[in-house]
Amino acid sequence: MKVAFPCFGYETISLKNFVENLGAQVCLPPPLTEKTLSLGTKYSPELICLPFKITLGNLIEGLRAGADTLFMAAGARKCRFGYYHYIQETILRQVGNGHKFYPISQYTPFEFFFRKMPSIFSVSPVRVITATYLLLQHSALIERFRNYIRKARILDFNKSRAQEKHALELLEHAKKLSQIRKTKEAIDKLFDKTKIIPDNTIKIGLVGEIYIMLEPFANHDIEKELGKMGVWVWNQRSLYRHLKHLLHIDHLGIKYKFQASPYLKDSPGGEAINTVGEARSFIKNGADGIIHIYPFTCMPENIAFEALQKMSDDYSVPLLSLSIDEHTSQTGLLTRLEAFVDLLKRRKMITQKPKIQNSKIKT
Ligand code: SF4
Repeated sequence: MKVAFPCFGYETISLKNFVENLGAQVCLPPPLTEKTLSLGTKYSPELICLPFKITLGNLIEGLRAGADTLFMAAGARKCRFGYYHYIQETILRQVGNGHKFYPISQYTPFEFFFRKMPSIFSVSPVRVITATYLLLQHSALIERFRNYIRKARILDFNKSRAQEKHALELLEHAKKLSQIRKTKEAIDKLFDKTKIIPDNTIKIGLVGEIYIMLEPFANHDIEKELGKMGVWVWNQRSLYRHLKHLLHIDHLGIKYKFQASPYLKDSPGGEAINTVGEARSFIKNGADGIIHIYPFTCMPENIAFEALQKMSDDYSVPLLSLSIDEHTSQTGLLTRLEAFVDLLKRRKMITQKPKIQNSKIKT
């Protein structure tokens, strides 16, 4: 069995190791490029959201790379995600030839552990549970690495590129528990924890739709671009948190639901509640601004946007809303990011001025 699934940012490594731990060969599609997007766009309904197009293009590339078995996450039906796999399966049947397509429902753990995965991979439920435990551990490590790299970019951007390359090589080979533990130690050593982020660093909370937030190709590498500008990006979204949410052990999700409640009480689907709750929490923790990133035509995030605008007014914290589709240009996006960061820097200078004057008076 040669398995392919759509790339999912840095967390692709965790998913690859998970499938390998179930005894299958992974035949990953090539890294996402404009070619992936135009391939997906060509076969997709015109107005469907961007993650559908990118993941479809990527699955087609997986087939072309030699995969005979495709996996795709399947969601509930509050938004279009609930229909992704039906439409993708139909399209892929026309494009591919004789492959198998498995939608993996995100909301049926029992079915996942005891029926679906054991029958697909011909393994015991115990092996699926063990592989899932390792997936959790590995994705926690990816989350840890991503927190390190966000800080490393501000301290020394050029050095951070080498650190990133090295860390990813280590993460790729961490399959068993002992290897994951050793890799954690190595990654802790790789990043210097004694260096402190300067007080005047601009801090931006990044919120939005999960795929766009986690896949650098889809978000035009927004975190790296902001890091290059000296911005410390706060981002609470990760595969690790999403898995914990599915296993009902994501305590942060409860916290963010509570934080979101004055602005958005019921979930309209997708990640809207998290988007609003995380933004409020970031603001309370001192974020200088919020960037909201989501696919154009994304219904839940458009609802979250209304709530974020109200929040931005209430707390006087600037909000930049970026809706992304296949026509979004890197240059246009960078220009908007630069203008937003400049605005935050000016605001910070103004709010810090009285403190400087006071300290002068004291001396
Ligand atoms: S959350 Fe938004 S982008 Fe994601 S599937 Fe639903 S509508 Fe599409």
